[in-house]
Amino acid sequence: LYNMVQDLKGNIRVYCRIRPTFSTKARNVIDFISEDGSLVVLDPLKPQKDGRKAFQFNRVFGPTATQEEIFKDTEPLIRSVMDGYNVCIFAYGQTGSGKTHTMCGPSGGSTKDLGINYQALNDLFQQTNRRKDIIEYDIHVQMVEIYNEQIRDLLAEDPTTTKLEISSCASENSLSLPDATIHSVKSTGDVLSLMKLGELNRVVSSTAINNQSSRSHSILTVHVHGKDVSGSILRSCLHLVDLAGSERVDKSEVTGDRLKEAQYINKSLSCLGDVITALAQKSSYIPYRNSKLTLLLQNSLGGHAKTLMFAHVSPEADSFGETISTLKFAQRVSTV
Ligand code: ADP
Ligand code: MG
Repeated sequence: LYNMVQDLKGNIRVYCRIRPTFSTKARNVIDFISEDGSLVVLDPLKPQKDGRKAFQFNRVFGPTATQEEIFKDTEPLIRSVMDGYNVCIFAYGQTGSGKTHTMCGPSGGSTKDLGINYQALNDLFQQTNRRKDIIEYDIHVQMVEIYNEQIRDLLAEDPTTTKLEISSCASENSLSLPDATIHSVKSTGDVLSLMKLGELNRVVSSTAINNQSSRSHSILTVHVHGKDVSGSILRSCLHLVDLAGSERVDKSEVTGDRLKEAQYINKSLSCLGDVITALAQKSSYIPYRNSKLTLLLQNSLGGHAKTLMFAHVSPEADSFGETISTLKFAQRVSTV
């Protein structure tokens, strides 16, 4: 049933989420949102009619949407992993737009309002328990980040020295990072402690190279293995991806490492856009090999896999340029 519901809507979905504003004084660029997924933004420099731009997505979540509402809409997709589907969920947007809030939860490590990562695993545990007489499931998790086209193991003892390589012979559903640390998880408690370790390692490695975590893509992968009473095996995975900030940098202002970083991010995000667009257009050539991110996720993008992208936007007027560029990117990868 989960799959039927999802298949009706196609394999690529794009949701937009608008962060609550930090300042009551700032001009808000969100003009209109509706249940059917339409969104209108207003250029703060052109408050007349010609400053209005309309976009259409599968859904739009306004600033008052709760973590529960977000998860409810994602739940059928996550449950389809238990039926053998591979699923990727991406958080896209400029730094500060709420990507980590959606995926992990509020900053500061609060255990309230936890995000999709935690909710997804919690739900998978409940579902596996419900089905335990029919299918025996094993769940493993792995957490890596991609920084400057290098893959680091966030669950390794020392994430700064471990560089991972993608296996070139990765077939459908086999492990594409054979050397990544992988942990069996049985409860949400296990998951929370691993996520803490992953987050800690992300911070440790990012200060070691004098860098912010918003400059890397972080990927939490959940491997699901199921065996039913007849002995047949099911394997699938769920990738939960908190992407690097999509903001463009002014080339005249940054140089050296900063510029290199920005160029790597730019390249991998545009490559992700190209791959999703090519898939949506059922193109015969899908440029997976153009970035580590798409190569790593290759088996979970396209085919029978399901993709969901959350495009995050900040409502403040001073973010308008980035908001438009996020919405354009999201519109490009969307099939609505
Ligand atoms: P990003 O990961 O895109 O850089 P964050 O998720 O860190 O952005 O969000 C920036 C700040 O805004 C954080 O302090 C976060 O807790 C807060 N925030 C983001 N989205 C929401 C939301 N929907 N509700 C409340 N606070 C939010
Ligand atoms: Mg973040």
